[in-house]
Amino acid sequence: MKLTVRPLKQKDAGRRLAAIDRVAAEELGLSGGDIVRVEGSDGAAIARVWPGYPEDDGTGVVRIDGRLRQEANVGIDDRVTVESVDVSRAESVTIAFPSQLRVRGQIAPFIRDKLSGQPVTEGQTIRTSMGFGLMGGQSQAVPMKVASTVPSGTVVITDDTEIEISEVPAEELAERSGSGEGASEGPDVTYEDIGGLDGELEQVREMIELPMRHPELFKRLGIDPPKGVLLHGPPGTGKTLIAKAVANEIDASFHNISGPEIMSKYYGESEEQLREIFEEASEEAPSIIFMDELDSIAPKREEAGGDVERRVVAQLLSLMDGLEDRGEVVVIGATNRVDAIDPALRRGGRFDREIEVGVPDRDGRKEILQVHTRNMPLVDGIDLDEYAENTHGFVGADLESLAKESAMHALRRIRPELDLESDEIDADVLNSIQVTEADFKEAMKG
Ligand code: ADP
Repeated sequence: MKLTVRPLKQKDAGRRLAAIDRVAAEELGLSGGDIVRVEGSDGAAIARVWPGYPEDDGTGVVRIDGRLRQEANVGIDDRVTVESVDVSRAESVTIAFPSQLRVRGQIAPFIRDKLSGQPVTEGQTIRTSMGFGLMGGQSQAVPMKVASTVPSGTVVITDDTEIEISEVPAEELAERSGSGEGASEGPDVTYEDIGGLDGELEQVREMIELPMRHPELFKRLGIDPPKGVLLHGPPGTGKTLIAKAVANEIDASFHNISGPEIMSKYYGESEEQLREIFEEASEEAPSIIFMDELDSIAPKREEAGGDVERRVVAQLLSLMDGLEDRGEVVVIGATNRVDAIDPALRRGGRFDREIEVGVPDRDGRKEILQVHTRNMPLVDGIDLDEYAENTHGFVGADLESLAKESAMHALRRIRPELDLESDEIDADVLNSIQVTEADFKEAMKG
């Protein structure tokens, strides 16, 4: 039986889960906790079965996150087979911490507890919701890595697995292997890192992903794939995230141009730099070129006045016109002032598709909060709904700050227990850090 790949919900990402439509799971004889191989036409990923979401019942859907989609080499809406695999129990697993985190005392039991039931493979990146992520006040700190396993191959961590801590820090392992996620060139953002923009992402998939994945289909239908897509909406709503996520999903190289930055170059340099970026993107195709604050590069000509702007717009137009119709390079422009953009840029064959990225509603805000608290040790029963409700007008960037600020409060609370003389942190303290209701309340006060 073939199942259709869909994205996982934001809150469940990062844990190697495959949420399988409950009807299909029953037919396949799979139940929660089983280890399965999700196999596409050109790759496979190992995952742990997770109960399907009620809305998926009978739809033949398997939801996996961006990391697993990448491993299985599949995209959203691709068809895959899912079958149970026998995976050995891990006798021992060696975990590497990020170098900035030095732990004293017995951390192994806490890690085993968190990871029990998870399939792991050497080289894999692991994120848990322990206090790790909070160190340094970041919600997405350098994650741990699986340095080695006994036996080798994919193994499942059980309550009996011995957990050892590697002498070598995680970053160094990633560097050594050269192929680790830490060393990958493209952005690491996946659709599960974006909250409240399902409709927008659906459009992005149709306009950008589909043509880039299946150029032959578009050619046969006689449709020109888009060269330029304009994302417009207020700052901090996720336009940059979207561009990075698409590039990542289709394994395209990502080239970033910031409008104001390029405009500050010396005479002739702006055009030269634009040319170089387009050239690089063509060489490294498939590619996404992301132009942030497009309005500052290409304001309406009557507004511009400046000679530099005029020449940069002319250069951009000629570069876009020069892109081949194969759809291998797509330029995504972002702006919060869509009306301020030179209309010449919005004609056919240029930025001729538009997606509005709006301020999130209550449900969107909840999803965004789920993204940014995913790797935080949240106290049980914390009600994100309440914060989604009370943050009217907040955009994604504001909600990210709120989550980080809450984490900072949690850290400050345990500060007295931290031995600041030592550069090591006590395992018990690390394990006891929790972000509470009170931390969120404090953060809300701003
Ligand atoms: P824009 O490009 O629209 O100005 P960004 O994509 O740069 O906004 O967002 C800035 C940061 O705010 C992101 O890195 C992310 O952490 C957070 N953020 C913004 N929008 C979202 C969203 N929809 N979901 C999750 N996080 C978001």
